[in-house]
Amino acid sequence: MDVPFLDLKTQFFPLKEEIKKAIDDVFESQIFILGSSVERFEENIGKYLRVKHAIGISSGTDALLVSLMSLNIKEGDEVITTPFTFFATAGTIVRVGAKPVFVDIKKDFNIDEDMIEEAITERTKAIIPVHLFGKTCSISKIKDIAKKHSLYIIEDAAQAIGAEFNEKKVGGVGDLGCFSFFPSKNLGGIGDGGLIATNNHKLAEKIKVLRKQGMEQKNFHKYIGGNFRLDEIQASVLNIKLKHLDLWNDKRIKNAEAYINQLSNLEEKGFVSLPRSEEKNEHVFNQFTLVCKNRDKLREFLLRKGIKTEVYYPIPLHLQECFKMLRYKKGDFPVAETVCENVLSIPIYPELTKERRDYVIDNIKEFYIGHNFR
Ligand SMILES: *Cc1c(COP(=O)(O)O)cnc(C)c1O
Repeated sequence: MDVPFLDLKTQFFPLKEEIKKAIDDVFESQIFILGSSVERFEENIGKYLRVKHAIGISSGTDALLVSLMSLNIKEGDEVITTPFTFFATAGTIVRVGAKPVFVDIKKDFNIDEDMIEEAITERTKAIIPVHLFGKTCSISKIKDIAKKHSLYIIEDAAQAIGAEFNEKKVGGVGDLGCFSFFPSKNLGGIGDGGLIATNNHKLAEKIKVLRKQGMEQKNFHKYIGGNFRLDEIQASVLNIKLKHLDLWNDKRIKNAEAYINQLSNLEEKGFVSLPRSEEKNEHVFNQFTLVCKNRDKLREFLLRKGIKTEVYYPIPLHLQECFKMLRYKKGDFPVAETVCENVLSIPIYPELTKERRDYVIDNIKEFYIGHNFR
C-alpha cells in the first residue's frame, strides 16, 4: 500500500466543477488584482477568524514582512521568536533590518513563555510566537508579558488556521496575525497566498497601503511599500475552500486521535512521544509530529513500506548558515536542537483513509516491537 504525505488530488476532485467555474468567472471579468473575489474572501475569512480586518497578502512570508513593516520595526530593533519554526518567521525579521532573538521551546514544540522575559532588552519591539504544526501556543501568558513590557505580538498562524484559544481563533489574539495559503497548509490555495488579520483599524489601513507600493492615492507614495497583493484567482478558489476548512480540520483531529489512541502503547514503552492537546480545537494538526527513537531508521523503514514522512525541521534556525552573524552556537537552545534530531511528521491529511491510517500505525508498531528495532 502507498500512503502519500498529502493528497491534494482527492481533496480537489469533489470541488472540481465549482473551482473551475470560479476561475472561469475571473477570466471572464478580466479583473485579476484587488477585485471582487479578494474583497469577498477578505469579508468571509474575517468573519471566520472573528477579526475586524482581514487583508489578503501575496504569501505567508510577505504577511510577516508587511506586519513588521507596518509596526516600523527596523535596524536596531529586536524581535523575540522561536528557533524551531519555518525559516520565514526569522528571515523576515532580518529582512527589515532587525535582529531575531531566539528563545528555546517546550516539549510541545512551541516557544517557552517562561523564558521570554529574560530575553527582553530595551531594544525589543515585538514577539512573534508561532502556533507550530497547528497547535496554539501559550498565547495568553505571552500576551501578559507583551502588555507588561509594551511589546507588539505578531502571531505566526501559518500552520494553525482554525485553531482556537478561549473561543477565539488564533491569529486574532495578538496585534497582527499572519496566515499562509501555501498548498500544504490547512487552507491551501492553488499557488502562493497569505493574509494578515487584525482588530487594529490604523494598522489595517497602513497594511492595505503598504501592499500596493505604499500608495495612498494613485502616484502618491506615503510609505516605501511593495507588491504584496493576493490575486483574484487565488481568492476565488480560497473562497470555495474556506467553506470546507472546519470539516477538514475535524478530520485531521480525528486522525490525530486515532494515532494517539493506538500509539500510546509505544509512548508508554518510551519509543515515541505523541503530540497532545487538552482543549477542544487547540490543535488543528497541520502536522502530526512524533518525537521518536531511531528517527532516521524508522523513516527509512516506513518509506520501504510505501509510507511517506517528513522531517520538520532538521536544523534549528539559530544554526542556519545565513544567521551566522547572530553568533549563536550549538548548545544555545538544547530543547530545539534535540527535537530537530528526533522529530518525524507522519501523514495526517483530512482525506487519509482509516485503512491507510491503520497501515501507518501497524508499521510503526512493527518497527519498534517487531524484530526490526534493535
Ligand atoms: C508556511 C509558513 C510560513 C510562510 O508562508 P508562505 O506562504 O510559504 O510564504 C511562515 N511561517 C510558518 C510557520 C509557515 O509554516
